[in-house]
Amino acid sequence: MTLITGNPTTPGASQTGQAPVPLWEQRAQSVVWVGGVPIGGHDVVIVAGPCAVESEEQLLQTAVAAKAAGADLLRGGAFKPRTSPYEFRGLGEAGLRLLAQAGKLTGLPVVTEVMSERQVELVAQYCDMLQIGSRNMSNFSLLEEVGRAGKPVLLKRGMSARIKEWLLAAEYVLAQGCDQLVLCERGIRTYDSEYTRNTLDLNAIAVLKRETHLPVLADPSHATGRSELVAQLGRAALAAGADGLMLEIHPSPSEALCDGRQSLSLGEFEQFMRDLGPLAEVCGRQLHRRAG
Ligand code: PEP
Ligand code: MN
Repeated sequence: MTLITGNPTTPGASQTGQAPVPLWEQRAQSVVWVGGVPIGGHDVVIVAGPCAVESEEQLLQTAVAAKAAGADLLRGGAFKPRTSPYEFRGLGEAGLRLLAQAGKLTGLPVVTEVMSERQVELVAQYCDMLQIGSRNMSNFSLLEEVGRAGKPVLLKRGMSARIKEWLLAAEYVLAQGCDQLVLCERGIRTYDSEYTRNTLDLNAIAVLKRETHLPVLADPSHATGRSELVAQLGRAALAAGADGLMLEIHPSPSEALCDGRQSLSLGEFEQFMRDLGPLAEVCGRQLHRRAG
C-alpha cells in the first residue's frame, strides 16, 4: 500500500513524509504592504473601524474620524461570523460596497473578513486585505483559496489554537505562494469569562517576533471584550513587540449592532492615538504617518 503524504500539488509538500523547513521561519523579517502602508517595518500601524458595517452614515463617520485620529487602515465586517444565526450577520455585498466607498473617501486601505471559499473572489474585488477570522483559522481549504487570491492576508488566531497550530494554518496560506501574510493575536479562551472575553496572549507576540518573519498585529478589542481595558492591553501588546494594533471603534458604541461593549467611541480612539506616540518611541518605533 502506498501512503500519500501531503498534497503533491502543494508547493513544499513532501512526498516522503518528512516536513520541509516551514515557510514561516525562512528569511528575514517581512514587510507586508497594504495599499501603500507597510506592516512589519519600523512603523507601528493602526487598523481601526467598526466591528460590522451597519450603514453608510455609521461607516463614513467612523472612517473619517479614524483617518483624522491617525489610523492607517480601515476595518469593518460585511460578512460577520456570529455565535447565533439570529444575530446581525452583516450587510454582505452592500457592506463591501460601503467599505470601498469609505476607503476611497479617506484614502485608507480596507481590510475585511472573508468567511467562505465561495466569497473570496467577491470580497477581494472590494478590499485591500483579506481577513481570516478566528473561527475560520483551521478552515484549510479557505486558507488555500485566500493564499491564491493575490491579496495580502490577515490571519487571526483561532480562539483555542496553540501557537504551532496557528503557524501551520499560516503555512497553508504561504504554501500557495502568498508572501503577504500578517498574523493577528486576538486573545485566547482561558479560565475567565466574567471579567474579560478572552486573554491576550502577550507570550505569543514575543514568540512570533522571535521565531517567524511574519508581521504581528494585536487586537485588544476582541481580547478583552471591554472598551475600558482596550488602551492598556493595546499598549502592552506594543511593548511586547507587536507591529501594530487592530481596534474596534464606533460613533455610538451603546447602539452598535455588534461588539459595542468592546468598541471605543470616536473620541476615546482619538485620545488613545494621542497617547500612543510617546509609547511607540519608547519601544524604538514610531506611529506610521502617511506622506501627504
Ligand atoms: C473581527 O475582527 O471582526 C472578528 C470577528 O474577530 P475574531 O475573528 O478575532 O473573533
Ligand atoms: Mn467584533
